[in-house]
Amino acid sequence: MKYHSTRNHSLSSSLSKAILSGLAPDGGLYVPNELPKISIDDFDATHSFPQFACQLLQPFFENDALATILPELCQSAFNFEVPLKKIKDDTFVLELFHGPTLSFKDFGARFLAGCMTELAKQQAITIMVATSGDTGSAVAAAFHQKPNIRVIILFPQGKITERQEKQITCWGDNVTAYAVEGVFDDCQHLVKSAFAQESQRFSYLSTANSINIARLLPQMTYYAYWSLHYFKQYQQQPGFIVPSGNYGNVTATFWAKAMGFPIGDIVLATNANCVIEDYLTTGEFTPRKSVQTLANAMDVGNPSNFERLRHLFGDFATFKQKVQAYSVSDEQIKQTIATYHQQYGYLICPHTATACYIQQQLNPGPWIMVATADPCKFETVIEPIIQKSVPVAPQLVSLLTRPNKKIRILPELRNIV
Ligand SMILES: *Cc1c(COP(=O)(O)O)cnc(C)c1O
Repeated sequence: MKYHSTRNHSLSSSLSKAILSGLAPDGGLYVPNELPKISIDDFDATHSFPQFACQLLQPFFENDALATILPELCQSAFNFEVPLKKIKDDTFVLELFHGPTLSFKDFGARFLAGCMTELAKQQAITIMVATSGDTGSAVAAAFHQKPNIRVIILFPQGKITERQEKQITCWGDNVTAYAVEGVFDDCQHLVKSAFAQESQRFSYLSTANSINIARLLPQMTYYAYWSLHYFKQYQQQPGFIVPSGNYGNVTATFWAKAMGFPIGDIVLATNANCVIEDYLTTGEFTPRKSVQTLANAMDVGNPSNFERLRHLFGDFATFKQKVQAYSVSDEQIKQTIATYHQQYGYLICPHTATACYIQQQLNPGPWIMVATADPCKFETVIEPIIQKSVPVAPQLVSLLTRPNKKIRILPELRNIV
């Protein structure tokens, strides 16, 4: 399988090269040259999740040097539960937060780290990543102590929660956490200028955010796996409602559907950052500054994977026909967290709440709502609403006791060494 840039079909690359470089040379994002078509009967329902993932991903690795490590990579990256929970009739939650840092970002980050570790046998790699929360912790945990790889994480000092900061700064060794005096955009700007101006200084410089194709590919696996199992059990195609910020996770849902997995409607749930709904109304894509909301991992004003979605559908008419998106306010998020707690005794994080709110407004389904983070990461939002403490997941308990290591800097590239 070869990959090409969303901006130029003839700019093609191997998988390994696409992973190493992140962005295509023309500034576009890498996409597979084709999405292989599957038949439901190709897949053995008794296979474990990692076995299933390996079979699904095989064609995407064909003829690449990384193909030989794929089975072992799936076993080691997906070594946690991926449960589907029933809330009530035709309403299910897909819990993607049982990995080491308690968000779905663990799937992509662990998979990418496995690929990069193999590629780092050829050359030393520096991963630089700007984060406003969950990406930083997932990347730090996934790359910690990986040989020949250095990780530089930039986060805005004082702008993330204490628990989020803990999960980024507790690693040490090959992971350096910089607390930047500024906002997320300053961190992002530092990464961009490092690529533009000083890539030699950081040996082979790469990145680990969701523009990287190795984060997107593994995210298809849970949609594929559960749509298939659901279909076999209930003879219906479930729709998916996906809490979205940079649109990486939902791009993977559309790709899985395009491959032929039995997926019904796909709905993007956004917070007040609603560029995609505006696009669906006007046909104009107008990025803007992000606004802060309770679902902070989705506070994105210029979603990078929009370009992959537009590339998938080709024209606006098709895009409009295939994509649904609804925006949810902070007030509605709070109200949904309360309702789910009272009616179902089920705790949801503010991101998951956007999907749950939207489901209440849609046709009867069946619907699978995607739960992107463990509620215990967002106790400062949830506890005042439910008037109870949120149980802390064991993964987080052990991190909370480790010492913090961070370097505070002003947002200038020379401060990063
Ligand atoms: C990153 C994140 C999202 C948004 O996912 P995208 O792939 O950027 O659309 C939603 N919820 C949580 C908890 C996240 O960490």
